[in-house]
Amino acid sequence: MSAAPRLIAGNWKMNGTIAETIELCEALRLGADRIDRKIELLVIPPFTALAEAARRLAPAGGRIAWGGQDLHWEPDGAFTGEISGPMLRELGCTHVLVGHSERRTLFGEAGETLLRKLRAALRHALVPILCVGESLEERESGATERVLDAQLDETSFALDPEEARRVVVAYEPVWAIGTGRTATPEQAEQAHRHIRARFEERFGSEPAGALRILYGGSVKPANARELLDRPGIDGALVGGASLRADAFLEIAVAAEGA
Ligand code: PEP
Repeated sequence: MSAAPRLIAGNWKMNGTIAETIELCEALRLGADRIDRKIELLVIPPFTALAEAARRLAPAGGRIAWGGQDLHWEPDGAFTGEISGPMLRELGCTHVLVGHSERRTLFGEAGETLLRKLRAALRHALVPILCVGESLEERESGATERVLDAQLDETSFALDPEEARRVVVAYEPVWAIGTGRTATPEQAEQAHRHIRARFEERFGSEPAGALRILYGGSVKPANARELLDRPGIDGALVGGASLRADAFLEIAVAAEGA
């Protein structure tokens, strides 16, 4: 388990009009007061809502950070539809997702593309949250660890040690994302242990000990405690449940007790 503060991150995906963003951020801002300061809170709205989220959350004095769902590896240029690291920084983002399974499966992102994005995030002082995870078919055929190894080899493990220690990893089994089906605490713990062991082989025990590994995949108030209680689970990346302030904050409360 990492000694770093636990991180509870909410990925809003393609949800959040400006009106919805105002409502959700205001509720989060008011509710965050009751969450222990040792838990880091992060929301990840769509790009169009970031400026409004920043306006609403900034008065909370840094209690809730905000981040981007993706970034391009170049700082600017002819890349229609893309958003860069400096643009995210300008909006006060501190974190950015890299390689979410929806980016991998729906938009074909992998390998070199993700490594470039990781490097771009680090170059622009954003903490990348690198998502890795296996499909159901891969799990059922016993390939989970092989898939995680391959995803790490082509991304984090290609970084130098100083870069790699700034990355947060999110273990998100694809079959558990948005399906209501969660990995059992044992499955999640085992995958986290594997990731940390591989990290240790690659970078040594101190960086591996400091690495934060979040679990993601249908985390909700009802299952958060049993997952976050497990050694080596350093927080959660929450999709659907992060769209309700009460549910998101309840998950954060579960992280306090763990
Ligand atoms: C996610 O989008 O990263 C995620 C884990 O979604 P959900 O919690 O809805 O499964």
